[in-house]
Amino acid sequence: MERKIAWNTYSDEELSKLEAVSAEYRGYLDNGKTERECVTETILMAEKKGYRNLTDVIANGEKLAAGDCVYSDCMGKAIMLFKLGKQPLEKGINIVGAHIDSPRMDLKQNPLYEDTGIAYLDTHYYGGIKKYQWVALPLALHGVVAKKDGTIVNIVIGEDPADPVVGISDLLIHLAGDQMGKKASVVIEGEELNVIIGGRPLKDEEKDPVKANMLAILKEKYDIEEEDFLSAEIEVVPAGPTRDFGLDRSMLLGYGHDDRVCAYASLNAILSIDETPEYTCCCVLADKEEIGSVGATGMSAKYFENAVAELINACGDYSDLILRRALTACRMLSCDVSAGYDPNFAGAFERKNSAYLGKGVCFNKYTGSRGKGGSNDANAEYIGRLRKLMDDANVNFQTAELGKVDQGGGGTIAYICAAYGMEVIDSGVAVLSMHAPWEIISKADLYEAVKAYRAFMLNA
Ligand code: MN
Ligand code: MN
Repeated sequence: MERKIAWNTYSDEELSKLEAVSAEYRGYLDNGKTERECVTETILMAEKKGYRNLTDVIANGEKLAAGDCVYSDCMGKAIMLFKLGKQPLEKGINIVGAHIDSPRMDLKQNPLYEDTGIAYLDTHYYGGIKKYQWVALPLALHGVVAKKDGTIVNIVIGEDPADPVVGISDLLIHLAGDQMGKKASVVIEGEELNVIIGGRPLKDEEKDPVKANMLAILKEKYDIEEEDFLSAEIEVVPAGPTRDFGLDRSMLLGYGHDDRVCAYASLNAILSIDETPEYTCCCVLADKEEIGSVGATGMSAKYFENAVAELINACGDYSDLILRRALTACRMLSCDVSAGYDPNFAGAFERKNSAYLGKGVCFNKYTGSRGKGGSNDANAEYIGRLRKLMDDANVNFQTAELGKVDQGGGGTIAYICAAYGMEVIDSGVAVLSMHAPWEIISKADLYEAVKAYRAFMLNA
């Protein structure tokens, strides 16, 4: 039952492919620090490979046929790519699905204030974070401001090496006696996640002169007013690029590997399919997974179902029954990251059923917590078929649970898609320091995920 270390299986040729995949992923991660940026990046990559916007296809009244490639985005925050297969949609779709939202801090609607000569932006954190990890490090601002006249202002501050960065202060150790005695969950509290953005007053301004200076800068650089924050979505994320990690460069340190590593692997896999596949292939990149897959852009919304309905219509005759048959007949990999075994915290894991960095793509029969609560428990028959499929494609894979029994738990988008009656299993890349500002993955696991997702779409 011991799984192979993927690194030991590679030829020189495969190692150079692995590095090429890693290099492209670094670009995807660096250009996609928000769900919106990931969608923009995904569309750029898809259009280069001949994918067309499904909305245009529908507007033109065009018909679709085997071999055609389309994408459909949902409010610029979630996206689906489809490559139509030889078999009718009624026979199901081979789906790889990941999420492109990551833990972070979002600016509040009324965020800007000044206190003792420092200008701050107030935040509300998004997803599960250890708040104490997000202080005393360089942060960047990414997002959009929607003005009343309908124009959208894109903002990225803190990524160009010439840019300033922002950040949250922590208390010096010399005065931290009380703080150090607190539980880790309250060492830094949610309302203390206030981002410092400035400290110089506007000349001759009497009331809140530092804040006034900030507003002057925002007006000059972006033509926005304070009230425009009311309709803005600005995310505070770690500043700086993904880095090779380790003296042997075997790993990547980056923000948002959860779950953009699986999103990228899914995207790479579908874009690598040049031939017309037997069954239609789909890559779906969802938003809002970290807060329960809610809202119009979360996986619980109907955009996937609606897109499949449009495809059925564009391929021939639509009926509700064909749509239901198509959804039920799908096969899916819910592509989400796994907790990598960490010897520093061995007590949280069970060694036989843990994901190890470098042992390949991971399959999780179930996730959930406390007696598998809330999990999608994949069928044994389905896993049996996938084992053969992975072995036939020479994919290095491992299986794992999320930590030891009753240690904690978590969920993915798997159960939402399983509700249609399709076969679904969680599958992803092992991550160290998951949900920390900087997460760690093995390049080998990324490479195996790309291989696995491609083989799945072509052969499931
Ligand atoms: Mn995830
Ligand atoms: Mn997560």
